[in-house]
Amino acid sequence: VWSAVPAGPPDPILGVTEAFRADTNPLKINLGVGAYRDGSGKPYILPSVAAAEAAFVGQADKEYLPITGLASFTSAAAKLAYGADSAPLKQGALAVTQSISGTGALRIGGAFLARFYPSSKTIYLPTPSWGNHTPIFRDSGLDVKQYRYFDKRTVGLDWAGMLDDIRAAPKGSIILLHACAHNPTGVDPTRAQWAELSHVLKEGNLFPFFDMAYQGFASGDIDADAFAPRHFVQQGHQIALCQSFAKNMGLYGERVGLFSLTTSSPEEKARVDSQLKILIRPLYSNPPVHGARIASAILNDPGLYKQWEGEVKGMADRIISMRTALYNLLTNTHHTPGDWSHIKSQIGMFSFTGLTQPQTEALAAKRSVYMTKDGRISMAGLNEGNIEYFAESVDGAVKG
Ligand code: PMP
Repeated sequence: VWSAVPAGPPDPILGVTEAFRADTNPLKINLGVGAYRDGSGKPYILPSVAAAEAAFVGQADKEYLPITGLASFTSAAAKLAYGADSAPLKQGALAVTQSISGTGALRIGGAFLARFYPSSKTIYLPTPSWGNHTPIFRDSGLDVKQYRYFDKRTVGLDWAGMLDDIRAAPKGSIILLHACAHNPTGVDPTRAQWAELSHVLKEGNLFPFFDMAYQGFASGDIDADAFAPRHFVQQGHQIALCQSFAKNMGLYGERVGLFSLTTSSPEEKARVDSQLKILIRPLYSNPPVHGARIASAILNDPGLYKQWEGEVKGMADRIISMRTALYNLLTNTHHTPGDWSHIKSQIGMFSFTGLTQPQTEALAAKRSVYMTKDGRISMAGLNEGNIEYFAESVDGAVKG
């Protein structure tokens, strides 16, 4: 029956982990996957998460959640993103549903817009973007196009190209924006640029679709990282927003996320809610309960919340300290050719190093240092035990 099924290519990111696992070099380093590691290279269970979980484990039942999830979680998560004084929240005009982490939020959002957004079926993504965006939106039923975002020459934002392409998009198009800590580049617009983008999207009647997978992870400050979507809402945009608690709570495999749409009234919200349910029910009926309970406990308990905020900041600060250390090793210790200041200025979990594909291949083959072929490294994979070996390896690859 399946003789005509062609073999597909391996996942470009998860393939890196497979190659890493097969490598027997004790010095090997995996900077491919975007999961936080602590100072000794181990996965990190946030103490606030462990405490929240311990309080209900073995006691909470395993009943189904409603289609749109755990209400105590969804309302607190929306408040976290939009801010407690957000107008659509206060007016009861925010349609929200729990989602299967950030990926599921994007997929629900894509499918909802494909079904109901009246103005367009085309979504514009930054070039480059997270590798899963294109298949998610294509499989949701949207056409996927690109706008310029990253300038290889400056290893920074292609601001002029971005504005030109967004201005040239047909009226009503959907524009995907990474709310903070752009993946894979680590390059974000400044606040002034966000403000200008808000005007440009208004002028073109374009629909802002925010992906916020790293709230708190970029700067260590939950509110600062939510600046862009909050600003757009304040400026009167109606937005879509996808949230993930994979990174900022370390709940990767628990699949905790939220999808929301701002609407113009409680009555409109109720209609949107009803259609979100109709969309979700045949997909997976209802979302997983365990991680949502953990996130709900943290977001609703002032003591745990404060503890969690400190832990998010701890993760962000460790990443930022690795950026400084790597910059110093390349620039001051090894005198590696090139300007490495982007490593310090980039934001969030990733750095787009500017290493070429042949250099990344040589690093894997000769030094057992693994990263994606585009030269993206997960800063969280670096620590005091491996950063010197890494810098020495990069220096060798650049000097050839
Ligand atoms: N969006 C972006 C930009 C991401 O980097 C990620 C995680 N790599 C996600 C969404 C979704 O991840 P998850 O489904 O694990 O929440």
